[in-house]
Amino acid sequence: VAPARDRLRIAIQKSGRLADPARALLASCGLTWRESRDRLFCYGETLPIDLLLVRDDDIPGLIADGVCDFGVVGRNVLAEQDAGRVAHDQASAFREWRALGFGKCRLAVAVPEGWSWQGPAQLSGMRVATSYPALLSRWLADQGVAAEVAFLSGSVEIAPRLGQADAVCDIVSSGGTLAANQLKPVATLFESEAVLAGPVAELDAIRGELAALLLRRLDGALRMRHSKLLMFQAPREVLPSLLPLLPDADAPTVMRVDGAEDLALQALCHGAVTWQRLEELKRAGARGLMVLSVEGMLA
Ligand code: ATP
Ligand code: MG
Repeated sequence: VAPARDRLRIAIQKSGRLADPARALLASCGLTWRESRDRLFCYGETLPIDLLLVRDDDIPGLIADGVCDFGVVGRNVLAEQDAGRVAHDQASAFREWRALGFGKCRLAVAVPEGWSWQGPAQLSGMRVATSYPALLSRWLADQGVAAEVAFLSGSVEIAPRLGQADAVCDIVSSGGTLAANQLKPVATLFESEAVLAGPVAELDAIRGELAALLLRRLDGALRMRHSKLLMFQAPREVLPSLLPLLPDADAPTVMRVDGAEDLALQALCHGAVTWQRLEELKRAGARGLMVLSVEGMLA
């Protein structure tokens, strides 16, 4: 049993695709750290929230064992390890708390480019190489297909060329790696992105309060990530044709411009503020359009 802690501990990937964005996201919540010499541990300075730098595969287990409270990990890794627990009649010991919007990819079955794909039944009796045996086995069972699942911890995409497997089930983002190995994705099992993983049960009072604080800031940071503050002026009478161009904005603030008939507007837009949209606003009568990024927001 892990000793009681009065600091929150978050596991993130030490190096790899999720390492930098995970740290940047947590830093945007106002956390700073002092790094240990061995680069394994980062001691929280502004808040008692520490980081543990590990391999992503270890993160669900660290949460299950109570060594860490939270972790930033791909949903694919979390789901695979959870499916593995279920397959072994173990209770779930971690769950997704928040989707974080980066590290997007999907788990897909890919077959040699020369195959004409007729559907999952085509995999019957075949050997499929994967690092995700639990998710693949579950999917094959759902499809009613009996295929052999061959576990490989890495370099899955070269297995067909080496004669180790007929097909693969692997993480795809652009598809470039598959194409380079003369494979094509034919079925998606699972959509993934980085998530904040945490315990199934509630935390104790002290860490629970820290977690609530962190989640409040995280929600603000996630919400603001793509938000822009739009400022402009416009004659009062064009307002009815301007507002429909801001469907994703919180109720705009409308102010009077000193010494003029015009109005000044401020709108927080949560969708993309593209050049095209600015041009439409200008055509509808807006002037002096300004787009500002938002550093933070507390609802
Ligand atoms: P570690 O050394 O921590 O075990 P890793 O090699 O297992 O690292 P990475 O390749 O850094 O892991 O990928 C981490 C996560 O990034 C994946 O689990 C997945 O959620 C996500 N990801 C996004 N796009 C891709 C992609 N094209 N290939 C692999 N992973 C991707
Ligand atoms: Mg890994």
